[in-house]
Amino acid sequence: MTIASYDCPACRRVYAADRPLWRCDCGSHLNLAPGRGFTRGQIAPGEASLWRYAAALALAGAPRVSLGEGWTPLVLRHWQGAEVRFKLESQMPTGSFKDRGTAVMINHLIEVGVGPIHEDSSGNAGASIATYAAASSIPCRIYVPAAAPRGKLVQIAASGADVRAIPGTRQDVTEAALTAIGESFYASHNWQPFFIEGAKTLAFELWEQLGFRVPDNILVPTGYGSNILGLERGFDELEKSGEIVARPRLFAVQAANCAAFAAAWAAGEDKLVPFATGPTVADGIATPKPVRVAEVLGALRRSRGGVVMVAEAEIAPAIAAFGRLGLFVEPTAATAGAALTQLLRDGTIGADQVTVVVLTGFGLKAAERIGELLGIGTEQRLPPLGWAD
Ligand SMILES: [Zn+2]
Repeated sequence: MTIASYDCPACRRVYAADRPLWRCDCGSHLNLAPGRGFTRGQIAPGEASLWRYAAALALAGAPRVSLGEGWTPLVLRHWQGAEVRFKLESQMPTGSFKDRGTAVMINHLIEVGVGPIHEDSSGNAGASIATYAAASSIPCRIYVPAAAPRGKLVQIAASGADVRAIPGTRQDVTEAALTAIGESFYASHNWQPFFIEGAKTLAFELWEQLGFRVPDNILVPTGYGSNILGLERGFDELEKSGEIVARPRLFAVQAANCAAFAAAWAAGEDKLVPFATGPTVADGIATPKPVRVAEVLGALRRSRGGVVMVAEAEIAPAIAAFGRLGLFVEPTAATAGAALTQLLRDGTIGADQVTVVVLTGFGLKAAERIGELLGIGTEQRLPPLGWAD
């Protein structure tokens, strides 16, 4: 097994991925070198988890820790009269898509001998990393916004992690985590490239679950863009091996009140441009300063997709619409439904196309907030079911 290597996109330095590393000495983020490619004959069919694609992962050996992450359901439902496939990443071990990236990143860090770790997160990545650290007996500290949904804070604390709740913006939380570098390894899911290596298995799963075909469109709630980058990396490897010829259009979905990629996209830039922010209930994608800006925008352009902005007022109706379909999702995930409505209405997506919506987080993550948004109080009588009265 060859050791993977990192490329610095800024200074072009190359590093062997043989020790814990989260960024280049020049300050830039690092990216993993392109993968070797992947064919259907390399799938381990007995593994009902992302480890069925272990042959494609840049790890030195078999996983040391797994909680059964990946191989999530892809279910068909109707949305605005169109047949749509919903990818239930909400059914991961910790209730969000983050486990895909976390599992691979933590296994890499174990392979290269990591000590105590810390991380900053809006909540879901913190819960994921705290959980996998607990499963690996790695000491862990998580910095989160003080205003994060209580369910996420409780989930992190229950894993035994040291939780630091930071007042202020999501960026303030990142700044707090940066001050801890030197005390422990900064296992940032937004910086460390092995997180994206794990996220690429989403592309393999969709391809396999659709009968070794790719969909026409994929919609993803997007904060830092790890799913967009993971999808591109996975489809790159399938194309390299001759397994696919067509590529899906990728649509990044952002809350209009915090839409860094949408602002850059509208300006035709491949770097961040100034934009106004406001509060959003889509806390998982409230990212004012994403890390891999050029990479995410490039992936969207190459796929011929785009960025969709969702207004705050569209989010609660989308949560309710998902609930009526049997899909209980957190507000961040519901933005993808609101975006789908927009794209179907304006004709960007046709009802006859194969469209996948990635549902990134489970509703119980933010049950109290969803109750407020939908006006569900403890005194409220829910509508009669017809047979109960
Ligand atoms: Zn560099």
